[in-house]
Amino acid sequence: MTLLSVAQARERILSSFQPVTTETLPLTGCSNRVLAQDIVAANDLPPFDNSSMDGFAVRATDVLDATTASPRRLRVVADIPAGSQPTISLAPGESARIMTGAPMPEGADAVVPVEDTDFNDRDAGTPAPHEVQIFKAVKAGANRRPRGMDILAGNVVLHKGRLLKPQDLGLLAMLGFAAVLVYRKPRLALFSSGDELLEVDAPLEEGKIRDSNSYTLAASIEEAGAEVIRLGVAKDNHDSVKALLEKAVDLHVDLILSSAGVSVGAFDFVKQVIETNGKMEFWRVNMRPGKPLAFGEYGKIPFIGLPGNPVSAFVGFEVFVRPALQRLGGSFSGGRQTVRVRCEEQIDSDGRESYLRAQVREDAERGYFVARLTGHQGSGNLHSLVQANALLIIPAGVKCVPAGQEVNAWLI
Ligand code: AMP
Ligand code: MG
Repeated sequence: MTLLSVAQARERILSSFQPVTTETLPLTGCSNRVLAQDIVAANDLPPFDNSSMDGFAVRATDVLDATTASPRRLRVVADIPAGSQPTISLAPGESARIMTGAPMPEGADAVVPVEDTDFNDRDAGTPAPHEVQIFKAVKAGANRRPRGMDILAGNVVLHKGRLLKPQDLGLLAMLGFAAVLVYRKPRLALFSSGDELLEVDAPLEEGKIRDSNSYTLAASIEEAGAEVIRLGVAKDNHDSVKALLEKAVDLHVDLILSSAGVSVGAFDFVKQVIETNGKMEFWRVNMRPGKPLAFGEYGKIPFIGLPGNPVSAFVGFEVFVRPALQRLGGSFSGGRQTVRVRCEEQIDSDGRESYLRAQVREDAERGYFVARLTGHQGSGNLHSLVQANALLIIPAGVKCVPAGQEVNAWLI
């Protein structure tokens, strides 16, 4: 078996993935999808000069020395609600009542908020006054949002490969994109393997355990923005594994993911099955947990075999499968967020690149993040993973991290 570093294994896996095809979707279906086109603004935003306050549009020079004690009196020559199109032009001594978002009239260069005037009636339907007293000076440009202050026509505002967030959809709507080109969701076929595995609703039997990996992994796949087709559990025999692999081929998935059956002693028949219709390599990766890993293809579809221990399967997904899904999905973002954290206690490691379950919290007084391991780090102990909110990454070659030292952590 080949011994690889984590980076080498990841590189080998990533190099065999290309982004999936694209599809045009209505904006309502684009949340959490990956953009497959650059978005160029066709118009300025805002599209016209407008008021950022309810008040009175004025010429700033008219109200230069307005105070409460000595207000400036202006004639009100127009009423401009949002959505209207003013036709007037302000002459010296004139103003217009204006609402937030309404276009600025010709001649006006600032807005005096209604609070700084003698007109305080803001009830809907109240007609504009004939005159208004201004209590406070404003600078030219005050409370006015000039056309294009946010975005200029022709600017690329969202780049291909961006994972679309709610606010991005708002911006696309502002710019009139009713539909956009996105990558289709990668589709994965997932199965577990092992004669000891029971369905989740089966009563426990001697020597058997319930299949948990397919639940953890299916949820991880969906959270990573892909579709999962659950194929169930393969028994530890040739025919059972082959049947599930053939089903995956019929479904034309982008990736086949399995757990278990890749450790020494277990792999022989999986290898045999796969090699009848593809190829497969077994690797030992210099990491903890999750040393054994299988990678290959079956019926031209990439195949990743994660180790069976529940924490190894989870970590293997984070380290290898999530980046592969990112590449498949055309995304340049979406990986785990990395933070620097200080270890609250000494951490011993065995020199492999280690992904340790930890609880990270912010030490508000000191202004940095601290981390503490959550419990037994055995690869079968799912509870300590559930209690963790981060994976601490101890680099290869490090055998001891003294208390107080900083390491990277992925927030999970
Ligand atoms: P294996 O990789 O087949 O040697 O399995 C390693 C360990 O993971 C064994 O203790 C298995 O019982 C356990 N295991 C394998 N598959 C699953 C699964 N789907 N859910 C929970 N534990 C599993
Ligand atoms: Mg097994």
